Amino acid sequence: MPGRQREGAGDEFSLIARHFTWPAPSADLGVGDDAALLRVSPGMQLAVSTDLLLEGTHFLPGTDPARLGHKSLAVNLSDMAAMGAAPRWATLAIALPAADERWLAAFAGGMRALADAHSTELVGGDTTRGPLSICVTIFGEVPVGLALRRDGARVGDDVWVSGTLGEAAIGLALLTGGLAPALDAAAAAACIRRLEAPQPRVALGTALRGVASAALDVSDGFAADLGHILQRSGVGARIEYERLPLSPGLRAFASHDTVRAAVVSGGDDYELCFTAPASAAAAVEGAGAATGVPVTRVGRIVAGGGLAIVDGDGSELRLARAGYDHFG
Ligand code: ADP
Ligand code: MG
Repeated sequence: MPGRQREGAGDEFSLIARHFTWPAPSADLGVGDDAALLRVSPGMQLAVSTDLLLEGTHFLPGTDPARLGHKSLAVNLSDMAAMGAAPRWATLAIALPAADERWLAAFAGGMRALADAHSTELVGGDTTRGPLSICVTIFGEVPVGLALRRDGARVGDDVWVSGTLGEAAIGLALLTGGLAPALDAAAAAACIRRLEAPQPRVALGTALRGVASAALDVSDGFAADLGHILQRSGVGARIEYERLPLSPGLRAFASHDTVRAAVVSGGDDYELCFTAPASAAAAVEGAGAATGVPVTRVGRIVAGGGLAIVDGDGSELRLARAGYDHFG
């Protein structure tokens, strides 16, 4: 795209060449032409997802650039995981207030390390001057008919969650002076790391093909996101709060209101929430073991709409706020 305020045409292109031109051996054509040329493997569907991250809305001003590069791709990889798709290619559209070489090198390095770890090739993008914003689009492949959708949950299915919930929301509270439990330094750092550098559950997602009946990734809060599965599938769920997986750092504070809110409604977990028939429980455990990701059964799909989260004594948790909503 032509820039209105060009710093000289050479700058934009040399910046792209220095920071955003990586080998893309599986693309027929990558960065450098008007469009990339990609070939989808026979028998596969293309899974496409895009996420926009704005400074001040989706990440705090001054966020470490390497972590920001990591996270910008991680949130998209997480969407591939949630579909059971194997990531293949990505594009990056970025607006930058200034061409700060050190910042760009760190940002690109963080993104590239995660891309390499997940065999994802950067094949194009756009670079322009403006308030810091980052938009990654990702392209993945999934065998035709095997994608993990939100509308497949059935009454009687178990509800599962990968990893642990709530740390990222506590990390955000720690960074912004919000309410948070009195964690030790290591547990606090772990929460902030979860917020700034989430690990997408890509291998687990593909291992759940043909096993999970529905899936999504938890980005806006467990209750709100599970609610999407329930709505799309036309079912309800009964979840036991005490089964929700907490990190060792948060476990001691499980009954604190701030931790309950973070676990149930906090955003940015990037774990997978999925359903599977009870008969598939061993296969789910196997997928978790094979990919090194803990998987926890947290409740059951029931008839009728609605989500009930019950405490140890059977009383229902009141949710002050179902999840993070930018328009709420
Ligand atoms: P055009 O003007 O044809 O849209 P651009 O000048 O925007 O092309 O970009 C030149 C090439 O560099 C294109 O192949 C584009 O996909 C790629 N590109 C631009 N910005 C980025 C970026 N941030 N990351 C990766 N590739 C980029
Ligand atoms: Mg351009």
